[in-house]
Amino acid sequence: ARKILEVNQMTAGFLVNTDIVKATDRISFDLEKGQTLCIVGESGSGKSVTSLAVMRLIDYAGGMILEGDIKFNGEVLSTKSQEEMRKIRGNRIAMIFQDPMSSLNPVFMVGEQIAESLRLHQNKSDKEAMKAAVDLLRQVGIPSPEVRARQYPHELSGGMCQRVVIAIALACQPELLIADEPTTALDVTVQAQILDLLQQLKKNNDMSIIMITHDMGVAAEMADRIVVMYAGGIMEEGSVHEIFAKPSHPYTVGLLKSIPGFEDSHGEELYTIKGNIPRINELPTGCRFHPRCTHAMDICRKQEPGFFQLGQDHKAACWLYEEHGGDSIVSPAGAA
Ligand code: SF4
Ligand code: MG
Repeated sequence: ARKILEVNQMTAGFLVNTDIVKATDRISFDLEKGQTLCIVGESGSGKSVTSLAVMRLIDYAGGMILEGDIKFNGEVLSTKSQEEMRKIRGNRIAMIFQDPMSSLNPVFMVGEQIAESLRLHQNKSDKEAMKAAVDLLRQVGIPSPEVRARQYPHELSGGMCQRVVIAIALACQPELLIADEPTTALDVTVQAQILDLLQQLKKNNDMSIIMITHDMGVAAEMADRIVVMYAGGIMEEGSVHEIFAKPSHPYTVGLLKSIPGFEDSHGEELYTIKGNIPRINELPTGCRFHPRCTHAMDICRKQEPGFFQLGQDHKAACWLYEEHGGDSIVSPAGAA
């Protein structure tokens, strides 16, 4: 399959006073066309920075890409000028965020905001753009789209607003949609509806998706592949099937155990991984997860683990797999 996105050994960081604080540490992953990749991890794991780096929006947040590169359809993005990036952003790559209100302009009717995006990217006349905007509102499942198009964001519910934001993103027919916690601010029923909508749009529009989430339940529903991040590094990567059937990195196991309803053998319902994510410029020696890991061994405190291949499509950065030929020795969440 064709690779739409390739991230190679990418380190991104921010200048704080005179220090560089890294937010991602030599991360690599690929996304194939038509697939959904979920990047999962707790807040502070570097997943949002990863998406900002791909979009090169990190430049505006006082950050930069320090090492490595990012390719989109084989084209290197990490060295493009912001002017070149503007043509790609909102045109070939679109992004949606957690809070739809922050993406919408309160003083313009929602139909007008979609039409604006169409005029900008597709050179449509005012009348054509407004008609296409109504069509897009219909496509994202908004009832009475002609009426809704003439309403302002505050007249719509949070879920409706997120649908409008998705319609704006779709207006330019992006090849890649990056969605950063797009349902986190919504209630559970609306969340499920928005996830369904994204799945359906991906199929109908031949889009690829990067979904950033702290929620393994969302990842289970959306992902073809999963990348698990912790303190700026990738801990485990695999197909959604491999990650859920054979979670191998102790951090992934911890994330799975924290899914409500994912009971362990003691009937303990909710599990939280003890301790906090370290700041990335104060990483512990060896494995960055070792202070929180119940499996930590001597080597874990001294030497950073590389990736061990666990299956054709599955790898984990954990010393437990050095000698075990890929057999999961961590019992999966829910198992005895
Ligand atoms: Fe735990 Fe060691 Fe694996 Fe790190 S390398 S996750 S400390 S067992
Ligand atoms: Mg985030």
